[in-house]
Amino acid sequence: MIMLLAIFVPAITPVKDDFFENGGTADVAESPEPPESPEPTTARPSPWRVALTFDVEHADRPNHPDGTEAVLDTLAERDVTATHFVQGRWAQAHPVLAKRLAADGHLIGNHSHHHARMTWLSPEGLARDVRAAEQAIRRIVGHDPRPWFRCPFGDGTDDPDVLAGLDRLGYREWSWHVDSLDWQVKSTGPAVARTVVEEATAHGDGAVVLFHPWTNATRRALPQVIDGLRAAGARFVRMDELA
Ligand SMILES: [Zn+2]
Repeated sequence: MIMLLAIFVPAITPVKDDFFENGGTADVAESPEPPESPEPTTARPSPWRVALTFDVEHADRPNHPDGTEAVLDTLAERDVTATHFVQGRWAQAHPVLAKRLAADGHLIGNHSHHHARMTWLSPEGLARDVRAAEQAIRRIVGHDPRPWFRCPFGDGTDDPDVLAGLDRLGYREWSWHVDSLDWQVKSTGPAVARTVVEEATAHGDGAVVLFHPWTNATRRALPQVIDGLRAAGARFVRMDELA
């Protein structure tokens, strides 16, 4: 019986409940086992993969600051490569940051030009919008975003006409498994961190997580997300490592 039980050791290490309330790695003194340096164990699972993805776009709030620089700083500090779906008009407004997305080693995708709902566009309108974003991204970021496309608001991900239109332009639509809910007005950093670590861990290998870098919640949550998932045995990959 003991032998049988040993086979069913969970493959993924759970994160301690007090991790988020303690502010993640910030309060190391109050945490006898800091999540970023878990005790070594002979039963350590092989790393499972998580893709952090960011819809890099104009903030969905009036007069809201852009948080992309802080997100890029956190990713660089913690040696994480991610995937950024870039809105064409955002790249035009933030050319220095847009260049840095690729210079930092992240995968670049297309998140449309005007951030309109894809199902509201005619086939010609969809093609014009997607191509406009592609041209802006190629000119400013210096990368071809094909075949990576993410629909604004997730609208059109199950629409055959939208998917066929994207296919004609050389794109596939790439959705997510875990919505961080960072876009909700009442979202907080600890709430986003808890949601992402718990749901990505529950999904396991290949989990794709959605963030928006303009939200305060994601800027605050990201260090805890990275440290919490690493403590749970995850390693971070770009979308092209999952495809
Ligand atoms: Zn978006």
